[in-house]
Amino acid sequence: MKYAELANSGVLEQPVYEPGKPIESVAREYGLDPSKIAKLASNENPFGASPLAIAAAERALKSAHLYPDGSCYQLREKIAEVRGVPLDGIIVGNGSNEIIELLGHAFLRPGDEVVMGERAFIVYKLVSRLFGATPVEVPMPGFCHDVDAMLAAVTERTRLLFVASPNNPTGIANAEADLVRLAESLPEHVIFCLDEAYAEYLDKAPDLRAAISSGRKVICMRTFSKIYGLGGMRVGYAYGDPELISLLQRVRQPFNVNLIAQAAATAALGDDSFLEMCRRENSNGRKLLCEGLQELGFDTYGGSANFVLSNVGNGGLVFEHLQKRGIIVRPLVPYGMSEYVRITIGRPEENQRLLEIFAKLVEDGLVVIAR
Ligand SMILES: *Cc1c(COP(=O)(O)O)cnc(C)c1O
Repeated sequence: MKYAELANSGVLEQPVYEPGKPIESVAREYGLDPSKIAKLASNENPFGASPLAIAAAERALKSAHLYPDGSCYQLREKIAEVRGVPLDGIIVGNGSNEIIELLGHAFLRPGDEVVMGERAFIVYKLVSRLFGATPVEVPMPGFCHDVDAMLAAVTERTRLLFVASPNNPTGIANAEADLVRLAESLPEHVIFCLDEAYAEYLDKAPDLRAAISSGRKVICMRTFSKIYGLGGMRVGYAYGDPELISLLQRVRQPFNVNLIAQAAATAALGDDSFLEMCRRENSNGRKLLCEGLQELGFDTYGGSANFVLSNVGNGGLVFEHLQKRGIIVRPLVPYGMSEYVRITIGRPEENQRLLEIFAKLVEDGLVVIAR
């Protein structure tokens, strides 16, 4: 008997997440020096992590034989202070991806519906399917979440509704007024899950705390993987009504966030100057990349976060060409966007190199502009 015959129904149909390609595997494949490869594929922070976070992680290593504080008390205390939310309204996860899954554990049954944008972060769909729920994908004109269309897609069976703002992979953010209206218009049986993975890159992040305290069903998720530069540590968190958070606390593993990650994340939250530097560099890099790509004739979209979406005609082809030359970007076939690539904004020299390679590809006729 095959294992597949023993598997739970749904496992065989479960799509597999395709992550950005790791530097080491590209180095092996193309015989390149890994230190010369730029990974602009997973929206990681090209400046690394805050030195304060690294120092805290090193100190925490000495306690690696101890189990972590499963409740992440110190980290939650720091989050409470920085975000201005109550301690019992915060849960920490092994990346915010874990929190998306916890929402599934707590709220999704087979046959339920989950409303999401058709070009939204793909994990919402994967988690919905995992719990036998039906992803209801709503068109996104101009690559932006359409709040009214999403509201119209809600039925009696809807339990969760996801919006990422700024969205990945389109890079477009919704206005605060739109998000507040969504929070206020949803029926009582639907939880609005706002994914704020890139909120720190906005000039002013939308604020749904008033909606939460007035009793609207909203949960906001954040991560340490992006501007805080701790993607490898796996820490994210969510804040919302303490009753909702306590349900999520029940379905997580007892020690879901390791001790080193907790220490690093706590210290990262206190390093404002690192955050400021990353924000400034990101906005300079975005301008350079967008203008450079547009000069070469490529359309660029979004740009509220730390990446640029560009229509390059054939995303897979451009991905291959760039990879051969030591730059990893993200093709978007799993998102149904085969003409596009998503490029994480890198360090100044990486952005420059990317534009030079692009210019050469166009000059050599290896990449043909779609329009
Ligand atoms: C990167 C990203 C996350 C963060 O995932 P982690 O599990 O915290 O690393 C969440 N949502 C979106 C939309 C993202 O792009």
